[in-house]
Amino acid sequence: MELNNDEIRRYSRHLILPEVGLAGQKKIKSTSVLCIGTGGLGSPITMYLAAAGIGKLGVVDFDTVDYSNLQRQILHTEADVDRPKTESAEETLRGINPNVELALHNVRITSENALDLIRPYDIVVDGTDNFPTRYLTNDACVLLKKPNVYGSIFRFEGQASVFAPHLGGPCYRCLYPEPPPAGMVPSCAEGGVLGVLPGIIGCIQATEILKLAFGKGSPLIGRLLLFNALEMKFRELKLRRDPQCPVCGEHPSITGLIDYEQFCGIVPEPELGANPDEVTVQEMKKALDHPALGIKVVDVREPDEYEIARVQGVPLLPLSELPQRFTELDPNQQYYLHCKGGVRSMKAVNFLRQQGFKYIKSVKGGIAAWSEEIDRSVPKY
Ligand SMILES: [Zn+2]
Repeated sequence: MELNNDEIRRYSRHLILPEVGLAGQKKIKSTSVLCIGTGGLGSPITMYLAAAGIGKLGVVDFDTVDYSNLQRQILHTEADVDRPKTESAEETLRGINPNVELALHNVRITSENALDLIRPYDIVVDGTDNFPTRYLTNDACVLLKKPNVYGSIFRFEGQASVFAPHLGGPCYRCLYPEPPPAGMVPSCAEGGVLGVLPGIIGCIQATEILKLAFGKGSPLIGRLLLFNALEMKFRELKLRRDPQCPVCGEHPSITGLIDYEQFCGIVPEPELGANPDEVTVQEMKKALDHPALGIKVVDVREPDEYEIARVQGVPLLPLSELPQRFTELDPNQQYYLHCKGGVRSMKAVNFLRQQGFKYIKSVKGGIAAWSEEIDRSVPKY
């Protein structure tokens, strides 16, 4: 592994660091990294790894660029909206450093393909945004003995660690043996995230990868770094390997990949119209257009969201206030409830049903579907 004159010039600020030097830069060049996800975390991770001269960089993402990604996913530009994220990532990363070998995997990582995807790489970095993929990535890395550089973000808070049981540390399951109940932890799409936050956590992950590559410093193995952007505070927790861990413990019960959707309690979405508790936005429109039908529509989102976008004539009763305020509703009245995407309105339906409400349904797809299918002048957020 040699560096040509252009590379020596490009990496000169690394080469003059005694901790990196020519030997370290060659190690970086001989390292391959697979980044799962090219979103908020994947953007700074892959951009800095490409700039640093990592030898081979694989990216896995099946998604296309959405307008609402641009607030934080700096790999992608406005011109990339609707393009596959891997394509857009390729263009940006090639522009940063053409010396890096790129491997683009425009697929969803699953229990069927994860081991084959991960096997050829030295290091895996978790830039995922959901629990099934996070457990899948963890288990595959433990089984293949690959370091898993972990990061996650939510609202103003993030965390990072390096999971590597084969190097003596714990794995993600040692820290979180059980996933949270499905729907309990909102996604960034529901809960929001400060755009710069994945930049900070992703840069920490990229730093850990480079340290693993050139082999200096103290990695985040056995440590969980917690960051709060509002307070601008870092904290650190010591992590221990759990000897009872089902995947990295002394007597593992998980020796192959499992069904992670099922493990995380996610039930496959029923066919359209198959859920008797749901109505479509077309039915919601009919109810609004024809008051004689006697169906009232209620918005269960939060006031901040109501301010961003609302459907004319639909009153607000936030889900968070429902336990105190449901008496304002008539248990014999027929209601359609909507939220942003249909998850919280279903929770409201279940809650009100327990309070004896009989004629109550959730609007599938929420105001997002309304904006897409009924009235484009309602902004999507
Ligand atoms: Zn473990």
